[in-house]
Amino acid sequence: DKQKHKRESWLVIGGCGFLGKAIVDQLLQNGDVDVCIFDLRQSFKDDRISFFTGDLTRRSDVDAAVRGRDVVVHTASPPHGLKAQVYVDVNVGGTRNVIDSCVANGIKRLVYTSSAGVVFNGQSLVNADESLPYCTKHMDTYNETKAEGEKLVLAANGRDGLLTVAIRPTGIIGPRDMQGISTMLKAAKEGKTGVKIGVNDSLMDYTYVDNAAYAHILAGQRLHASSGIGGEAFFITNDSPIFS
Ligand code: NAD
Repeated sequence: DKQKHKRESWLVIGGCGFLGKAIVDQLLQNGDVDVCIFDLRQSFKDDRISFFTGDLTRRSDVDAAVRGRDVVVHTASPPHGLKAQVYVDVNVGGTRNVIDSCVANGIKRLVYTSSAGVVFNGQSLVNADESLPYCTKHMDTYNETKAEGEKLVLAANGRDGLLTVAIRPTGIIGPRDMQGISTMLKAAKEGKTGVKIGVNDSLMDYTYVDNAAYAHILAGQRLHASSGIGGEAFFITNDSPIFS
């Protein structure tokens, strides 16, 4: 007798956002798991998805979405330009709620979207790898709280059977980006093109959104005790694009 294969249930926290939606789209395209979204707002309709609207800072909201999942992918974070306390509340307090909820509900796999900003404060980084220490002084509260959230997530690896991993994208670009290219275009349209930082040989690493999304899916699929990725953080780059 063939044993009936139970479909996995994946929750994408922040699944209505730029990166989160790209992860959701790939999961749906693969078609082999059930997909749920937790977000502040529901920005689109899709009958294949179970939507949970709520705020990460409210534990009961988080519990309602996390309960019963096989994999939780936590991509949510406030946009740039808000007051410092919002980043502390959501990136630290909200992430703590996600971890505690995963442990309380017996979830085994948690993938956290971190940021390369956790190790970067303006210094030159060439061929940097994950052995770099966290910044002692961060660029701003956003980056500081992303690091704080990452530390909490990685420290939770092994708690009651929960395995955790952090993905650290650099700048993410691609369709539906609301902050990167659109900000550059706006500056260009306003004629703000005369600003040069340094000697004009600065490079910045950008990653295509579908590659960043794919990294999260691979991490969720491989998050087993034997893979050795539990408790680790990984930078994401475009070196070997999977999608063109
Ligand atoms: P985004 O703003 O497009 O999406 C974030 C989503 O999270 C939104 O849908 C928002 O409604 C939701 N959210 C925010 N606060 C919430 C809360 N309190 N409760 C529930 N949902 C909440 O952002 P993005 O660009 O897709 O970024 C996704 C992740 O990637 C973030 O963790 C960010 O720190 C990280 N990241 C982004 C970049 C980049 O260039 N965009 C670079 C490095 C890391």
